Amino acid sequence: MKKTLANCDPSVLAGRRVIVRSDLNVPMDGARVADDQRIVASLPTIRMLVDAGARVLVLSHLGRPKGEVDPGLSLAPVAERLGAVLGREVRFGPDPLGRGVAEPISGEVVLLENTRFELGETRNDTELARSWADLGDLFVNDAFGTAHRAHASTVGIASAMRSKGGDAVSGLLMARELRYLGDALREPDRPFVAILGGAKISGKIDVISALSSRVDRLLVGGAMANTFFRALGLDTGASLVEEDRIEMARELLEVVGDTLLLPTDCIVAESLEAGSRSRVVHRSQVEDADHIVDVGPETVTAFDEVIGRARTVVWNGPMGVFEVPDFSRGTEGVAHSVADACDGGALVVVGGGDSAAAAHLAGVSDRLSHISSGGGASLALLAGQELPGVESLSDGA
Ligand code: ADP
Ligand code: MG
Repeated sequence: MKKTLANCDPSVLAGRRVIVRSDLNVPMDGARVADDQRIVASLPTIRMLVDAGARVLVLSHLGRPKGEVDPGLSLAPVAERLGAVLGREVRFGPDPLGRGVAEPISGEVVLLENTRFELGETRNDTELARSWADLGDLFVNDAFGTAHRAHASTVGIASAMRSKGGDAVSGLLMARELRYLGDALREPDRPFVAILGGAKISGKIDVISALSSRVDRLLVGGAMANTFFRALGLDTGASLVEEDRIEMARELLEVVGDTLLLPTDCIVAESLEAGSRSRVVHRSQVEDADHIVDVGPETVTAFDEVIGRARTVVWNGPMGVFEVPDFSRGTEGVAHSVADACDGGALVVVGGGDSAAAAHLAGVSDRLSHISSGGGASLALLAGQELPGVESLSDGA
């Protein structure tokens, strides 16, 4: 077990210099924060520290500036929005290393400039990590979204903090993500059902193989299913298929057998664009010019039956091109099925940015146990991998 902020006595936090690595990597529209979900997700940790009277220094990256100062990727607008949602001023420190920035006083929050303006950040540079660690006495890693990468402000800083006798602990968001995506799925109540979809198999192969040996049923939709269709010898017309993964899909089919449930029918359209003509066909009736854009109604019902019996559900990846309303029914169907299962007492965890957006679109976000804030990190956890950002923290009781 790693140490976590949740177990820290607030009285020991008063007046302490605490460095928080948050994931404030939000989508921007010019200098405007386009979506503040990640800022909101980071609040519990920051609020706990502020309430305890800690001196809070927040670090984050934004975008991929490649080790150079890029004014377009400044965290200044994020500091402002963080202050707005926190309900108290967040002072912005225009230097990533805090040079020339006055230290926060008790109960104050200072957000430093984009960590990735430093070349050593993504290289996990030791010197850089030490400079950051020197800015505080306790390190809190709450950046779940980047926990699968070993960077100076996530991993190096934790080691540097421990070398100088300080603690490196997980933040409240990080701990919650680990509880739902790690612990809960390690010994799940059964039946345990995974639903996988999205555009590609390639980024999710490790997840498919790790989950397929642990779940009772694996439901596959989205373009990912097309590659499996081809492995079954079916025609997929003009649909998105990963030709170089067909052989791998074939091998997977042999290994997992009946655990894997593929769509039996689909929605095919003339193109992926809105307004394009579509029809429902059996998966054996896809014609040359057809694009498979969604799973069909028979599949939605079959998936609903399996999900309805589940005690634990993990969902990653939409069932179709859900951005187009006409092609979103399969994804919406799954969203409602998992929400109903959750209402009935099942544990339901959703990972992946597009799946989270789909759950939101379907209006069921509030009815699910947990929606992960991290795409790549949640996939890594589901694949059973260790996260460097977690491994580097102090060991606790
Ligand atoms: P997540 O972000 O939840 O992990 P992905 O990024 O893997 O999900 O996949 C989401 C994308 O997959 C969406 O943009 C969606 O349009 C696309 N997609 C799903 N099904 C299909 C399909 N049949 N054909 C083309 N694209 C698809
Ligand atoms: Mg995505």
